[in-house]
Amino acid sequence: MILVRKFSFFFTLNRFFIPNFANVKQMKMEDLIGELHIMKVYPETIVDGPGFRYSIYLSGCRHHCPGCQNPNSWNPLNGLPLRRSMVDEMVESINENPILDGVTFSGGDPFFNPKDFGYILKRIKKETGKNIWVYTGYKFEELLEIEEVIPLLNYIDVIVDGRFDQSKFDPRLDWRGSSNQRLVKVQEELRKFRKEKKEAEKASKKEAC
Ligand code: SF4
Repeated sequence: MILVRKFSFFFTLNRFFIPNFANVKQMKMEDLIGELHIMKVYPETIVDGPGFRYSIYLSGCRHHCPGCQNPNSWNPLNGLPLRRSMVDEMVESINENPILDGVTFSGGDPFFNPKDFGYILKRIKKETGKNIWVYTGYKFEELLEIEEVIPLLNYIDVIVDGRFDQSKFDPRLDWRGSSNQRLVKVQEELRKFRKEKKEAEKASKKEAC
């Protein structure tokens, strides 16, 4: 698995992220996606969900879990500013690769900056139709309380939720580091959430009558 990752990262650096800072300085402001920065991309990995996946690691995380394997990703300004043209290339690369089973967003925490994350999330889902996984330090219930996150959930199939807890670390777990983290089937949970919300609204209207 380590070999796959190393190879993928090397490939990625060549494909997208040759650190040519002259280009970064010259790029047009309108090509930037808000303040979103990207750490790396693995064009084919088998460690971020089932099957072969295209993994996109975004910068920025406020959870600061002890034992985090990627503290370099906490600073939202680390990595490179993400450009629309990079997303164009990602879409093309995903659509051209027949062995891919899905796309995973990780980091950092992709929900660190929901507004700008929404741009890349929606484009990848709409333009590739792939199954989407997202790793986040928030619990699913916490995400449901963030107004600007709720519309984004429509574009996600599975969320691996919760902070990494060193005391619950278990290397036998699939796709997650500690046993408190869950694989949430987002569309199922959203249906339940909307049903419960409707019922609560009905009940409060009845009480008001
Ligand atoms: S949520 Fe993930 S990236 Fe953020 S500190 Fe925890 S383990 Fe690290």
